[in-house]
Amino acid sequence: MNKGISYFGSRLPEHVFPDLKKIKDATCTYVVHTFSEEDMMFYRGNMKSIVAETKKLGMKAHIDPWGVAGLFGGETFSYYVARELGVRQVTSEGRLAPLACLNNPEARNFMRSWVDAAVEIGADSIFWDEPHFYVPGWFGFSEPKSEWGCRCGVCKKMYRDMYGEELPETMNPQVIAFQDECLISFLTEMCAYTAEKGCENTVCMLPNEEVRDSGFWRRVGSIKHISSFGTDPYWIPRKKADPKFNMDSFLRPFCREVRYVAETNNIGGHIWIQNFHIPAGWEPDIEQVASIAVEEGITDLTAWTFYGAKGMSSLCADQPEKVWETLARVYSSLG
Ligand SMILES: [Zn+2]
Repeated sequence: MNKGISYFGSRLPEHVFPDLKKIKDATCTYVVHTFSEEDMMFYRGNMKSIVAETKKLGMKAHIDPWGVAGLFGGETFSYYVARELGVRQVTSEGRLAPLACLNNPEARNFMRSWVDAAVEIGADSIFWDEPHFYVPGWFGFSEPKSEWGCRCGVCKKMYRDMYGEELPETMNPQVIAFQDECLISFLTEMCAYTAEKGCENTVCMLPNEEVRDSGFWRRVGSIKHISSFGTDPYWIPRKKADPKFNMDSFLRPFCREVRYVAETNNIGGHIWIQNFHIPAGWEPDIEQVASIAVEEGITDLTAWTFYGAKGMSSLCADQPEKVWETLARVYSSLG
């Protein structure tokens, strides 16, 4: 069984090393270390020693481009996008959004320089964390759900070259197909570059049911040089919003598709367990999620994030210690 946990917030070895020991004692086999643009610019040496200590304890180090260029998940900002304004995604409303376009060759060059830095600090694997086009709601605008990106000059030209017509202003199946191709192209290029450096690739896609059921994940899983595919079906918002929420019907389809993608491509398959925003009294959900995933044949579980997110007040669980104790107990029971 592979068992992981994400870690961020502290970069002081005297504080991080005891945390890594706790993570090891919870029987984790790997740590997903966030490596933001800020880490890359100001904490590279600290990250090198944190990664070295992770390995010394017998765990693997997965390195996450957390919020880098705004293209991935992460509660952090992109200095790159603030500096290189021309790389920004353009939405269907004409808004210039604070994330780079993954089709922009300059943004891809920047991502290659990030991979170089991640390899330099000792990455065993790059964890491609929720790569995405513009997601309405993520930047705090009160935009309609139908607003989408990207309609930048690079995307418009690519679309014209591919379909011989202009990129529409309204989302439609052909635009979805175009964006799927773009994501595949981006990940293919990034994973090949990482593999050249002797490093593995792990990919996590956002838990969108429509995308999952479209078969797109199967294409992502078949990208060369990917060693594990997964998703992060965080259930707390759903459970809060729906009094009839049923964990089995929510979670099992995600586990089944991840397992299918993993088995058909002969790679690993992982499921993220929510360990943030857990309300008091809901800690047993963690055990329930882990046992459903294991029943569905998932052999790699990982959790966001260390110690019930106590290190980040905007994500912190009501009882972070209890969340961590629950996860550690569940992990230890899995062998
Ligand atoms: Zn674009």
